[in-house]
Amino acid sequence: MNTFRKNTRSNFRGTHTSPGRNQPKRKPVSSLDPNLLVKKAKPVSAVSSSLKGQKFQELNLQAKLQEAIQKKGYEYLTPIQEMAIPVLLKGIDMLAIARTGSGKTAAFLIPIIERLLKKPQNGSILIVAPTRELALQIGDEFKGLTQGMSLRFATFIGGTNINMDRKHLAQKPHVIIGTPGRLLDLSNQQALHLKLVNTLVLDEFDRMLDMGFIHDVKRLVALIGLREQTLLFSATLDPSQEKLIADLLDNPEEIHVDPGTSANEHIDQQTIRVSEGEDKFVVLQNLFQNGALKKVILFTETKRLADRLSKKLNQYGIPAGQIHGNKSQNFRNKILSDFKQGSIRVLVATDVAARGIDVVDVSHVINYQIPMTMDSYIHRIGRTGRAGKTGQAITFIN
Ligand code: AMP
Repeated sequence: MNTFRKNTRSNFRGTHTSPGRNQPKRKPVSSLDPNLLVKKAKPVSAVSSSLKGQKFQELNLQAKLQEAIQKKGYEYLTPIQEMAIPVLLKGIDMLAIARTGSGKTAAFLIPIIERLLKKPQNGSILIVAPTRELALQIGDEFKGLTQGMSLRFATFIGGTNINMDRKHLAQKPHVIIGTPGRLLDLSNQQALHLKLVNTLVLDEFDRMLDMGFIHDVKRLVALIGLREQTLLFSATLDPSQEKLIADLLDNPEEIHVDPGTSANEHIDQQTIRVSEGEDKFVVLQNLFQNGALKKVILFTETKRLADRLSKKLNQYGIPAGQIHGNKSQNFRNKILSDFKQGSIRVLVATDVAARGIDVVDVSHVINYQIPMTMDSYIHRIGRTGRAGKTGQAITFIN
């Protein structure tokens, strides 16, 4: 059993990266060396051979769950699944350093489902994610993995009608997935009973801290109190977070899968230099003459530029849609679904909105501007080259 033991709130004020109110705003300068953004992908055969370890059939799981896994088309466990599933089935706490695209969602959901099948308990599982998109994707994965079972889940995210959330909670879901702010709101309204939670999953923890959710997470953890198991997933591990993480976990098993400091090796990375006076949009437009750019995520630093590029691409006959923090959740869901189905070719996105987006067949990631940090670069290009496919990343540099 573990609980969040100390209130170290004030120690973490420094996690916000935005400038304070009274500090002068400097024009941000990227610290990235463009030479690091050029790399040849390992051939796909190397990828698929890495997916030929243990088979799901070899795991001793409930028949219904085996059937659902098979229906999802998963045959072999990914490396993180091989490492995590047996440990999690034993109820041990876990710290997993793994990036999105490694199969981490199924790695934590499969043991959770197995446990719920044996002993279904309402509201006993809480999965906290930093972004709305990631929360919805975890929900989709749970739905796929529980086909034909009577296990319920509900997703609670900001930007939606909270009264609907209250109705969904009244249906007593077994698994609750949400973003920190909305979960706290529901708890404050006495609609969500956090004391029932016995398994807590904190997904993309480093993002959660980047996005300033630290206090919300601490409040949630304090309200949950004693619990049986805590799982923490993070793409990176900053030494300054070690104490915080140690307070959240009780004697955890630590696993590292393809650490977030290096990019997925199955992505071809290249840069395109745009000379002074050259029209960058024309360079972009020319790229789209290549039919191989089938499903493209185009990253921009600002919401305004995302709007402008999306509009311009559409004007030039390249179907595009944009997602960023100023768009309503309904709008974002619609654009994401259009992108998944292929009715738009380009998803123009800002960093925050694109975190956790899981579209398996993204052919290219384009950085319209060089990202600010290596971490952001790795997260962005990780949207392509997923689940055994080679991806392409192109970064414009000046
Ligand atoms: P995640 O890291 O959870 O975002 O997963 C990345 C992608 O891999 C998702 O599209 C999953 O559906 C897919 N995936 C997860 N586990 C497996 C597996 N064992 N075999 C094939 N694909 C998988």
